[in-house]
Amino acid sequence: MKPFTFKNRLHIEKHKGDTEDMRIQPISPMEGDLLTYPLQQHVGAPANPLVKKGDRVLLGEKIAEAMGRISANIHSGVSGTVMDIKPMLAPHGQFIESIIIESDGKMEEHPSVRGIEDTYHLTREHFLHIIKEAGLVGLGGAGFPTHIKLSPHDPDKIEYILVNGAECEPYHTHDHRVMLEKPGNIRESMELLLRLFPFARGIMAIETNKMESVMLYKKLFASNDRIEVIGLPPTYPQGSEKQLIETCIKQQVPMGGLPSDIGVIVLNVSTVAAIDAIIRRGRPITRRIMTLSGDAFANPGNYEAVLGMSYKDLVERAGGFKLRPYKIMSGGAMMGWALYNLDIPIIKTDSMILAFSEKIANIQPEQPCIRCAKCVEFCPMGLLPYEINTLALEDNLEGFKKLHGMACVECGSCSYICPSKRHLMQSILMGKTKIRRM
Ligand code: SF4
Ligand code: SF4
Repeated sequence: MKPFTFKNRLHIEKHKGDTEDMRIQPISPMEGDLLTYPLQQHVGAPANPLVKKGDRVLLGEKIAEAMGRISANIHSGVSGTVMDIKPMLAPHGQFIESIIIESDGKMEEHPSVRGIEDTYHLTREHFLHIIKEAGLVGLGGAGFPTHIKLSPHDPDKIEYILVNGAECEPYHTHDHRVMLEKPGNIRESMELLLRLFPFARGIMAIETNKMESVMLYKKLFASNDRIEVIGLPPTYPQGSEKQLIETCIKQQVPMGGLPSDIGVIVLNVSTVAAIDAIIRRGRPITRRIMTLSGDAFANPGNYEAVLGMSYKDLVERAGGFKLRPYKIMSGGAMMGWALYNLDIPIIKTDSMILAFSEKIANIQPEQPCIRCAKCVEFCPMGLLPYEINTLALEDNLEGFKKLHGMACVECGSCSYICPSKRHLMQSILMGKTKIRRM
């Protein structure tokens, strides 16, 4: 299949060279470390705690249970003792009810952590139950519970399982490393998913700035005529679900609709790798691979951290800073947000910490809008960012909804291209959050 493309794409400079060759290094908590588990680290309702202060917990033990239809379980990443349950600062700047566990340094595993050997006879219901129990959510950053995504209204109408290996954020390399270091997990998961969706074809989409991954998977799936590997020309925001569908399948998801409405399920490549680890080894989601990049880090690279560890502990154990960080961000240069405090926990939807010295940070003040319409020209969703931004700032949420502000995919293209350096994506995100809370 020849890749098509999507409208209003950006060509941005990529900065993957510092970390793309760095193998994933595990970093584990030490005895006495405090790990913090916010009860909401996914789309949907917060999880309900199953433990109380003073309880001893084991690695992989379920400590909070999904509440309602859209929610996700949470598991301890260490063995230790529950010290408290109270609101704590989370990566997005909100205080969220959290379980705090002190690690005993032993990493003693809970007996429930065991995989199944016969994956061939696994039914769809049993598969979904295991995925739900493991607390898997979209590891591309969206955090949507995977068992819900894999439960479309009519599974037999799913025509494509689209694996997202685009990784279009300019500094991210963790998905690339997962593709290079976990091909066995990805192949097993793909084969299992295609058994469970018998009328679907698999597509693995990877940007060609990760040619080593493209070649590896072309070879790996060469003899499987249900799976196609597509190399995509690098462009932004190619990894956004709707844009990737447009590129690979040449169809648009209707406004307000879901990919499954047009017969597509999109899964990030790290989510796909996690599926096999969950099914065959019984491992719930307790770890997260993070890219640390930017000139302020002493050892930029890819690190596999235990969920609940603080950003501060991860940064220190990865070698700390060599230059004074002037700007620190979580989530990526395009879609991420600035941090003022590293005493926040690593959660399931995290993927990156960026730290720049004053020389690179280049912070420019916002200027008045000059009505150049560049933000409109480069919005991949065809929105009017300058208008929606004004409505969000004025708290005109009805107007915001009328101009389809909720359809914003939070790609950051508008803020990036704006010559007046308006904080467009940030205010649109604020408007969306207010509407969701209402
Ligand atoms: S790109 Fe910036 S300056 Fe131009 S119209 Fe949009 S908000 Fe205004
Ligand atoms: S309005 Fe939203 S979708 Fe459009 S460019 Fe800005 S962040 Fe991206």
